Amino acid sequence: MQMNIAEDNAKRLKDIQKIENISDADMAVLLDPVQVNYSELSVNGKRYPAWRIVYNRALGPGKGGIRFHPDVNEDEVKSLAFWMALKNSLARIPYGGAKGGVAFDPKVADKAELEEVSRKYIEAFYKYLGQDKDIPAPDVYTDSQTMSWMLDEFEKRVGCHEPGMITGKPVELGGLAMRDDATAQGGYFVIQKMVETFLNNKKGLSVAIQGFGNAGLYMAQKLHKDGFKVAAVSDSKGGIYDKSGFDICALIECKKGGRQVCEHSTGEKITNAELLELPVDILILAALGNQITEKNAKNIKANYIVELANGPVTYEADAILAGKKKVVIPDILANSGGVIASYFEWAQNRTGQILEEDYLRDLLKKKMQENWQRMYDLFNKKEGEITLRQAAYILAVNRILSAEKLRGRIKGVI
Ligand code: NAD
Repeated sequence: MQMNIAEDNAKRLKDIQKIENISDADMAVLLDPVQVNYSELSVNGKRYPAWRIVYNRALGPGKGGIRFHPDVNEDEVKSLAFWMALKNSLARIPYGGAKGGVAFDPKVADKAELEEVSRKYIEAFYKYLGQDKDIPAPDVYTDSQTMSWMLDEFEKRVGCHEPGMITGKPVELGGLAMRDDATAQGGYFVIQKMVETFLNNKKGLSVAIQGFGNAGLYMAQKLHKDGFKVAAVSDSKGGIYDKSGFDICALIECKKGGRQVCEHSTGEKITNAELLELPVDILILAALGNQITEKNAKNIKANYIVELANGPVTYEADAILAGKKKVVIPDILANSGGVIASYFEWAQNRTGQILEEDYLRDLLKKKMQENWQRMYDLFNKKEGEITLRQAAYILAVNRILSAEKLRGRIKGVI
């Protein structure tokens, strides 16, 4: 991810401050993270920079994933933590925002090294983590196995069981079966609302999906099952396109067999950049940040863009897309299904109660639909003066500021 995300976030906050007439003193609590921890993890003679950053704690303990990626840097982790603070606030779950990362390429590591990096991460940061302090989860290139090693290392160090210190665990260690596809599931409920609201429930819409990992793969599966035409998908090595749509089950088999999507037997080979500009109805961004920028925004043909990834559309691109009347469903709503399911897992770990998966899926649906509705109602009320992202940001920012005021950390009327 490039280095302009912190600037982008500052500009987005400035816009919200202006729209909502928020004082500089109040806004100051949202301009910087409350805690930045840095360490270098020493593994097999190599040293990997690592971060854990808590952005805000007004609504509850820190909460956010850990990313393993060679390009991770402090600016990116700060921005991801900032988005987590807004996402948790918008979703009305009792968390502040946090994020972690290790600048490390898991693709060239063997399993022993992955385990070592995971354990070293906890060795470096365990004092700052815990079910009431800061609760990590998976993100790009980390998964339930990573969470298992991290939980084990944490419990060894604190000397007791505490499954609620981390989410996205396997079922055997207190995780939820539904957590695997929860991000896509939540995004899918939002797409249903988008199609109902803007497209009169039109059937057979065409979709391009960038990223075929946890978020993108499950999303492709759900949309395909529901009659959408998934016309393009990609992963880090490139993509494929067939305007009549792919058999997603066959593509999943290809991916699970260890091949890249561009090695699939059908479809035209395309680059990730080309995928973004395809003539489809819906473009789903499910890979990394900064994918639609001022350089390519004017070429985007899809009228509906869904941010399943964090930060895939830049500030400048937002303005260009808004000018072309494109509808962008913001990340802090579209991908919040993952953290909402994490909240269910955390609550279950803490109470010891075991809840039925069907009940939790219904609850996720209800929460995603309510969150969509609050955002859409505000957008509608402002009659075209703000974007959906700005509506979501206004709701999230105001809720954090209310909590700060109630705690007496900032002054002003609630
Ligand atoms: P993942 O590691 O499972 O998959 C990432 C996918 O992106 C892979 O298919 C990879 O090949 C592809 N990719 C990597 N670099 C790419 C590039 N340059 N161009 C195109 N594709 C590329 O990760 P994930 O969990 O699916 O996360 C994807 C995005 O969704 C991230 O931005 C993440 O922060 C966000 N997200 C994920 C969750 C979750 O629960 N998994 C929750 C919220 C947000």
